[in-house]
Amino acid sequence: MQVGDLRIDAVIDGQGRFEPTKSFRGTTEEDWAPHRDLLDADGRIGFAMGGFLIRGRGRTTLVDLGLGPRRFLGIDGGALLDELASLGVAPGDVTDVVFTHLHFDHIGWAADEEGRAVFGSAVYRCAPADWDHFMVDHPGEEADMLRGVADRFETWAPGATVLPGIDTLAAPGHTPGSTIMVVSAGTERAMLLGDVVHCPVELVDDEWASLSDVDPDLALRTRIALNRELEGSDVPVAAAHFPGLQFGRLLRAEGRRRWVV
Ligand SMILES: [Zn+2]
Repeated sequence: MQVGDLRIDAVIDGQGRFEPTKSFRGTTEEDWAPHRDLLDADGRIGFAMGGFLIRGRGRTTLVDLGLGPRRFLGIDGGALLDELASLGVAPGDVTDVVFTHLHFDHIGWAADEEGRAVFGSAVYRCAPADWDHFMVDHPGEEADMLRGVADRFETWAPGATVLPGIDTLAAPGHTPGSTIMVVSAGTERAMLLGDVVHCPVELVDDEWASLSDVDPDLALRTRIALNRELEGSDVPVAAAHFPGLQFGRLLRAEGRRRWVV
């Protein structure tokens, strides 16, 4: 994906394909019937872990750091550094890391087993509300994963431009500091949605239940506002777990929304 002088590449840490009713708890075959076009030929849904690499203007930025070398939902993480190498990027080349939020499957490569930064030349950045939630108010697995690199973190003011060509858009609900990254160059834009949506169905159908939201009601309101903004906007978007981390557009035709990659 090219946005003016900025290039965005998906960096996949691990991915799998699942029976949709089993991967989205509480959903039935009937729930999925209107969304068959989002499933593959075998009727399965893709689910990826990873991040996005943004290069240009003298910076090499990663948005989210995947699952890391561990297993979750039957997905083995661990491919991110190899994927980066195949794009010609060594860990020491990365100048900046920004996190859409601090869930464990987005910070997997922040630190190694000894607690040292994997990206030793980079500043790490997140929303202050997520720092407070995960590191101060409810310290758990995420705090354990980040403690060794805590001094590397900076927070941004909500809505701030975090790096040249990367603006933050507060999108709370999934986590308190959940943030959409808006990548722009001139009139061109693309958006990285983080976990504001987990599956393209949530863009097509406002009422579709999401996963693991800290505040489900706020997450729903955030998602409805996002869907209205995206619908017919022609802005390419990608979320943190969409199949293959592919970009797509939310189009409107014949009275209904369609997700088109
Ligand atoms: Zn999440």
